[in-house]
Amino acid sequence: MAGHRRAPILPVDVVGAGISGLSAARSLLEHGLEVRVFEKSRGLGGRSATRRIGELSFDHGAQYFTIRDERWAQAVAPLEEQGVIARWEPRIVRVLADGAVGKAKVSERYVGIPGMSALGGALARDNEVVRETRIASLLRSDGGGWNLASDDGPMLGPFSAVVVTCPAPQAADLLDDVAPALAASCRAAVMHPCWAAMVAFGESLGLDFDAAFVDDPVLAWAACESSKPGRATSLEGWTLHATPEWSAERIEDPAGEVAEALLRRFLHLVAEAEELSPVIRVAHRWRFARSAQPRSLGQVVDGEALLGVAGDWTGGDRLEGAFLSGVRVADAIADALSPAVG
Ligand SMILES: Cc1cc2nc3c(=O)[nH]c(=O)nc-3n(C[C@H](O)[C@H](O)[C@H](O)COP(=O)(O)OP(=O)(O)OC[C@H]3O[C@@H](n4cnc5c(N)ncnc54)[C@H](O)[C@@H]3O)c2cc1C
Repeated sequence: MAGHRRAPILPVDVVGAGISGLSAARSLLEHGLEVRVFEKSRGLGGRSATRRIGELSFDHGAQYFTIRDERWAQAVAPLEEQGVIARWEPRIVRVLADGAVGKAKVSERYVGIPGMSALGGALARDNEVVRETRIASLLRSDGGGWNLASDDGPMLGPFSAVVVTCPAPQAADLLDDVAPALAASCRAAVMHPCWAAMVAFGESLGLDFDAAFVDDPVLAWAACESSKPGRATSLEGWTLHATPEWSAERIEDPAGEVAEALLRRFLHLVAEAEELSPVIRVAHRWRFARSAQPRSLGQVVDGEALLGVAGDWTGGDRLEGAFLSGVRVADAIADALSPAVG
């Protein structure tokens, strides 16, 4: 594809180095375009994240991923060979409201090694990612492309096109003034919050399962981190996810209170060991955790303005969907740019 282009045109900018942003950047490179990625955090991978606390690491965002689409399969196959990802074969159950334990659906699950954040690091390899740079606004440059204003930093650019991959409400904030129709689509996308608690015990809980989907108004999911490959530790760490409804109600509560509430719910309903005290108990607030989009957002690119959006909320949900949304927007941006370069 690159050989058919006259290029060079200005680089394309990608805002955000989550899985959709890194996927967009990879695909844009494959189209023969030059790419820069700006990421506000220090780490890569966005919600495919790992928090280290002492000797333990907690995947407090995405827990694992599945592989269904061929393009995703091709992207992650080398990572399995390199030991960056591996199969996780947990004993998973469904805990019902009365504490009864049932069977959960069996599917092939993969995790990053030694944590889910390894996935972002590996997908970023061929891309130039500028970290700790939050993009605050997009401005037309004199030559017709785009400049980006970062927090407290110099003006960045110019860029021929910009792909915005932040969660939908944050994408809308960036696009309101420059692409109102695209911004309106972003505003229509619903994203649910999630409180995640990370707890660890000095002794094993002795449960006969490693992870549980929980049918409960408070707790939705519990996973034993030490059951995942590549995470040997003397402590037993668990990640607990609250339900979207409970998270929304408690979204402004202090993290310490939330961690305690989720811990107590877990010990009562799942572990049945209410007297245990953890050695670690912290919580993380994901304001925009999961996409509630039932189907694709439709248009993801304003071809005239050369602006695009990607992210799980554009219709994919989950890591695989985020990856595919990046491929989709990169194809659309490359198409939109092709009259200028072909
Ligand atoms: C609690 C939880 C559990 C989950 N469980 C699973 C699971 O088990 N399996 C699964 O497949 N998926 C799961 N998901 C969903 C999965 O994590 C997401 O679908 C996926 O990570 C979304 O990727 P993304 O690139 O669209 O967005 P993000 O990962 O949110 O990436 C967006 C990036 O943009 C950056 N950014 C935002 N604003 C700016 C700015 N102004 N300037 C620069 N950078 C910016 C952010 O820092 C972030 O790195 C879970 C998510 C959460 C939160």
